Amino acid sequence: MSSGDDSYLRDRALDVLLDPGLAHVVDLVCWVEKGLVHVADSKGHVALRATGECTLLAGRDPIVEQDPMSDSTSCYPFAAQRLHSLFADQRAPDLAVVHTGAHCWPERGGHPGEHGSLNAVQSRAPLILSGPGVEARGVVERVARVVDVGATLAHLAGASYDGMDGAPLPDAVPSAAHVVGLLWDGAQCADLLALEAAGELPAVSRLLRRGCAFRGGAIAEFPSVTLVNHTSALTGVGPGRHGIVNNAFYDRVLGQQVVPNSSDTWHSAMQWLRPGVTTVFERLPAGLRSACVNEPVDVGATYSTFGLIRETGAAGNLGPHLPVAADDPHATQEFVATDKDYAWGTQVDAAGLDQMLSLWREDVPPRLTWCNTTLTDSGHHAGGPGSDIARSSMRDADRRLGVWLDLVEERGLLDDTVVLLTADHGSEAADPSCTGDWDEALRKARVPFRDEAYGFLYLGHDVVS
Ligand SMILES: [Zn+2]
Repeated sequence: MSSGDDSYLRDRALDVLLDPGLAHVVDLVCWVEKGLVHVADSKGHVALRATGECTLLAGRDPIVEQDPMSDSTSCYPFAAQRLHSLFADQRAPDLAVVHTGAHCWPERGGHPGEHGSLNAVQSRAPLILSGPGVEARGVVERVARVVDVGATLAHLAGASYDGMDGAPLPDAVPSAAHVVGLLWDGAQCADLLALEAAGELPAVSRLLRRGCAFRGGAIAEFPSVTLVNHTSALTGVGPGRHGIVNNAFYDRVLGQQVVPNSSDTWHSAMQWLRPGVTTVFERLPAGLRSACVNEPVDVGATYSTFGLIRETGAAGNLGPHLPVAADDPHATQEFVATDKDYAWGTQVDAAGLDQMLSLWREDVPPRLTWCNTTLTDSGHHAGGPGSDIARSSMRDADRRLGVWLDLVEERGLLDDTVVLLTADHGSEAADPSCTGDWDEALRKARVPFRDEAYGFLYLGHDVVS
């Protein structure tokens, strides 16, 4: 958008987006003006400094509730820091439209369970730390952020976390020979802890017996979507610094749409990292081995699944090379048979377990291992948190975790291994009766725009995606 048109186009778009008639689907609209982040809904408007200082400009404050321990769908933890982080990159949109938690949009690719919002429910990932140096305290009343994951892994592995936005968890004592980060994509914090407490995630219980879980989990960067937060977890910086601002975005300098988060582009997603941003793998002291399993944010890892995919050119045709889901003893076969994403996630995670076992059967396992579990995201999208399919995806992931933990225990390495289990975002159930579309309203009002990843509006473009 050229600067002369800024306020005119933005005001026209805001008139449409903040109309009370769209309030059931538009939770918030956020933008930057003169260095301040503005946040508005149909009933109020505030301006935020990065320090959190907030000026009320109209009506009532739409993000007044920010208690990071609250599980209210209208609570927005760390709102100022997270929004300022996003808008620091020029790839950020002119207007970020935040869906209400209830908004149901299957016609645009939405699912019964969704995430992406600034709210606490969709932003809260689980966070468990286990192993030597960690006091066994069960569930503790604490909260961290996804950017703290990178700092914690670096600190535990003896690497520097200088320059990261996050900080190591106070419980992380760098004494273990091996550091393992596990990401259960989309696993909802509250439901994971509830299932564990009910005895249904025995491998997670094994971790908890040697550590602690934060009830407030780790709060994702905004938007609370996959690649933004995988990248934040493994670089320790927010999207305004690492540059992966959404699963799809528009790069104004290149004049092109960028879609780094798809099965066809994951292996090459890191080409979009901003210069100077380093992963935890790159920060490891020279000569130490690292492994990055089923994870696109792999720069500098000694072993990388996606590195192998890049070398062999197998991207886009991996299915025949993966284990068969119907034969998987750890899978809930009812959902393998009925949900193709569940079947695919099962294949990918079975291959992940195979890689974890062979890496950990080596004479000396890697100093730093990271493993991404994808099935949990499929399960939560398919049914929403607490659904049978979401819970089955966590039980399956737990069985695979148990197999790897058995190997660690057999080899006598439990006391040398610290494990961090987290996710990239939370999950919230949509309300099937809550439908609507702001793009249609903008088109009717003749506002020129493009909408990337359904919520990132770039004004002044006539292309609507
Ligand atoms: Zn995800």
